[in-house]
Amino acid sequence: MKQIDVALGDRSYPVLIESGLLARAAEHLAPLAAGHPLAIVADQDVAQHLATFTTSLDSAGVKWRAMTVPAGEASKSWTTLAQVCDQLLAWGVERRDLVIALGGGVIGDLVGFASAILKRGARFVQIPTTLLAQVDSSVGGKTGINTAAGKNLVGAFHQPELVLIDPRVLDTLPDRELRAGYAEVVKYGLIDDFAFFEWCERNGAALLTGDTAAREAAIAHSVAAKARIVAADEFETNGTRALLNLGHTFGHALEAEAGFDGSLLHGEAVAAGCALAFDFSAAQGLCPAQDAERVKAHWRSVGLPDGLAPTGLRASGARLVEHMRHDKKASGGNLPFLLARGIGRTCLDRTVDLGAVEAFLDRQG
Ligand code: NAD
Repeated sequence: MKQIDVALGDRSYPVLIESGLLARAAEHLAPLAAGHPLAIVADQDVAQHLATFTTSLDSAGVKWRAMTVPAGEASKSWTTLAQVCDQLLAWGVERRDLVIALGGGVIGDLVGFASAILKRGARFVQIPTTLLAQVDSSVGGKTGINTAAGKNLVGAFHQPELVLIDPRVLDTLPDRELRAGYAEVVKYGLIDDFAFFEWCERNGAALLTGDTAAREAAIAHSVAAKARIVAADEFETNGTRALLNLGHTFGHALEAEAGFDGSLLHGEAVAAGCALAFDFSAAQGLCPAQDAERVKAHWRSVGLPDGLAPTGLRASGARLVEHMRHDKKASGGNLPFLLARGIGRTCLDRTVDLGAVEAFLDRQG
C-alpha cells in the first residue's frame, strides 16, 4: 500500500492507495470511528462499490447508515445540500462522527461542504471513485456547490481526516470519464514535472486500457504532487495552489459555453484549456511552439480534445472572454492566467491583455 501524507499541521491526514482497499476499508475506519456509526453519502450510481464497502464494515462490526444522491453535477446544489444536511441531522450526526463521501468529485465537494457546515464542522473521509476525484478533488479540502451565478461559488475549505483510494473501482468507470480524469494526471506533468509528462507519454495508453500498476503509479504521483502544492498554500494565498488551475481559465470558459450539460466534461475542458494555454503562450513568444505541439499530440493520442475546434463549440473570442470575466478568480477586472514557458514550466501572469486572448480565440475556429 502507498501512503502519502498531506502535511497541514494539526489538519494533516494520510491518503492511502491500494487496489482492493475498499474491501478492507473497515480496518482503517474502525479506529477513527471509535464506536460511533458512520454516516455514508454515496453517488447513487456506485451501488456496487457501496456494497463492497458496507460488507467490509459489517464484517468488522462497524455500524453505518447510508443515503444516496443522484449522479451528476446538478447534485452540487442548494437543494441537495439541504437534503444531505437534513438527513445527517435526522441521523443525529455529531461533530465527532465521521461522514463518508463515496463517489466522484461531485459527491466529494457536496458532502465535504455539508460536513464543513454541519454543526460548524463534522469530521469527514473521502473515498473517491473517479480518476479525477482520486488524483485531484479528494485531496486538498476544497468543498462547495454551484449556484445560479456559477460553479463552485459557495463553499469552504474543510480538510478530510483520511482519503482512501482504491484504483480497482475505476474498472466500472465509463471510458470517457476515465480519459477526462487522465487530463488532470497529465496536468501535474505540465505544471512543473517534465519527467512525469514523459512518463505519461509512455504509459498513458496502458493506464487508460486498464494497466493496474500504471494506474496506481499515476495516482500516487499525482496525489503526492497535489499534497506538496496544498501543503505550500492551503488557502490559495501565495500563488502556489493557483498552479493547479493550469488550463482552467480557458477550460471554465468552454464549460460555461457548453452549459454544464455533460456535453463537455470538466477534464475534457481542462485538456482543451491546457492546449489553448500552451498555444496562447507560444503565440506570445513565451513557449516553444514544439512544446505546445507535443502537449496537443499527447491529448490526441489518448482521445482528448486538443483545442477549441475538437470540443465542437462554435463560440466567438468575445463570448469566451466574457465567460472568463465571470470566473470567480477574476478580481479587480484582472484575470490571472497560467501560461507556460515550456512543458513543466508554468507561470502565473496577471497582466494578460484580454483583447489578445479574444483575438487568439477567434483564430481557433
Ligand atoms: P462526478 O462526480 O460527476 O462523476 C462522474 C460520473 O461518474 C458520474 O456520473 C458518477 O455517477 C460516475 N461514477 C463515479 N464513480 C464511478 C465508478 N467507479 N464507476 C462508474 N461510474 C462512476 O464527476 P468527477 O469528474 O469525479 O468530478 C467533477 C467535479 O469535481 C466537478 O464538480 C468539479 O468542480 C469538482 N472538482 C473539485 C475539485 C476540488 O479541489 N474540490 C477539483 C477538481 C474538480
